[in-house]
Amino acid sequence: MSDVLVVGAGQLGLMMASAGARFGISVDRVDHVSGELLPGTSSVRFAEDPLERGKTYPVITAELEHLLGNPLVEGLKDLDGWLNPQTMDLLPARDQQKALLDQLDVATSAWQELTSPKQIGEARLRLGSDLIVKSIRDGYDGKGQWIISEHSNGDIPAEAFGNIIVEKKIPFERELSLIGARLQSGECVYFPLVENYHQHGMLRYTIAPAEKAKHLQPEAEVMLQKIMKSLDYVGVMAMECFDSSQGLLVNELAPRVHNSGHWSQSGANFSQFDLHLFAITGRPINQPVKANGMSVMLNLIGCELNPDWYSLPGIQCWWYGKSWRENRKLGHINITAYDLPALISKCAELLPTLDDFHRQMMNLCIENLQKKSV
Ligand code: ATP
Ligand code: MG
Repeated sequence: MSDVLVVGAGQLGLMMASAGARFGISVDRVDHVSGELLPGTSSVRFAEDPLERGKTYPVITAELEHLLGNPLVEGLKDLDGWLNPQTMDLLPARDQQKALLDQLDVATSAWQELTSPKQIGEARLRLGSDLIVKSIRDGYDGKGQWIISEHSNGDIPAEAFGNIIVEKKIPFERELSLIGARLQSGECVYFPLVENYHQHGMLRYTIAPAEKAKHLQPEAEVMLQKIMKSLDYVGVMAMECFDSSQGLLVNELAPRVHNSGHWSQSGANFSQFDLHLFAITGRPINQPVKANGMSVMLNLIGCELNPDWYSLPGIQCWWYGKSWRENRKLGHINITAYDLPALISKCAELLPTLDDFHRQMMNLCIENLQKKSV
C-alpha cells in the first residue's frame, strides 16, 4: 500500500513522488480530470476507480487548489485521508482568502468585491486610481486579471462581474514569498524569505535567500503561522508578499508546495517537497530548516530542453516531460553556490546555454544579484 495520494498529475506531484522515494515514502498521483492513476513518478496511466483506490491511502493531498465541483475531489473529500478540508474549501476563493487575512489582521492590499461596472467608480474612490481586478476562482500565472488605471476601466467582460474582486495595485520594492510547513504537532518550520521576479503575472526566477529582506523574516513567520494555525493546516503553505512602503503585504496564499520553493531541492537541507511529506505523514523534523549558501531558480517556459543543463557543475535541471506549449512551465533550473560571487559566476556560465528569452531573464537576475553585493 502506498503512503500518499496526490490529486493532480502535474510537476508538483511528480517532484513530491521523487522526494518521497528518498525516505521510503511512496507517493502515487491521480489525474483530477481523467481519474487515471499514475504510480510514483511513472507517466503510465492506469484506469482504475479513483474513489475505490483513494480509500487505500492514509493521506490524500493535492498539488493544486482550484478543484471546486471536481467530481473526483467531491468523492475524495469524504475519505478520512483527505487533508485540510477547511483550507481546501476556503483558500481557493480569493474573496474568502482576503476576508480571512482581514479577519486575522494580516496586512494585505485593500480590496472589495466587484459585482457591477458601476462599482468601479466607488472602488477608485476607496482604493485609488491604479487597481487590479482578479477572478475569485481559477486564476494562476496572472490569468483572469485586468488592470484599471486612471484612463481605463480594464475592459472587464460583463459576465465576470460577481466573480471578481478588485484590489489596490501596490507599488512594491520587491516581491517575496515565505514557504513554511505546519506539522501535525502544530510546530511550524520555515524557509528563509525568497525574492521572486514576475513578468506578465508569471514567476520567472527566484533568488534565495532574499538577503535584503532578512529583517522581515520574523514578521513574515508570525503572519504565516497565524494563518496556518487558524485553519488548523498541516503541510506546506506558501505566502506571496509585497515588500512595500506600507510594510509587508500578503498578496496570496497557496495551500501546497509552490514554484518559488523549488530552489530548496538543491539549496536547503530539506526541500519543500520533503517538508510537505514529513508534515502530512506525521514524521518529525529534528533539525532546523536552513539554506545551504545561495540559490537561483530559473523557470523554463515554452522552450526546448538543452542537454547542456545536465553537465554544468552546481546546476540542477528538472524537466517535467510535459508537451510543449507557448508560455507553459516545462521545467526549471536550480543554481546553488556557497556565496554570492560564486552564484553570480555560475549564473553567468549558464548564459550561453539559454535561448534569447531565458538569457534576458538570467541577465536581469544577475543584475539583481550584483546589486546585492554593493
Ligand atoms: P499565481 O500563479 O502565483 O497563482 P495568480 O495569477 O494567482 O498567480 P497573483 O499572484 O495574485 O495571481 O498575481 C500575479 C502577479 O501580478 C503578482 O506576483 C504581482 O507581480 C502582480 N500583482 C498581483 N496583485 C498585485 C497588486 N495588488 N499590486 C501589484 N502587483 C500585483
Ligand atoms: Mg501569485
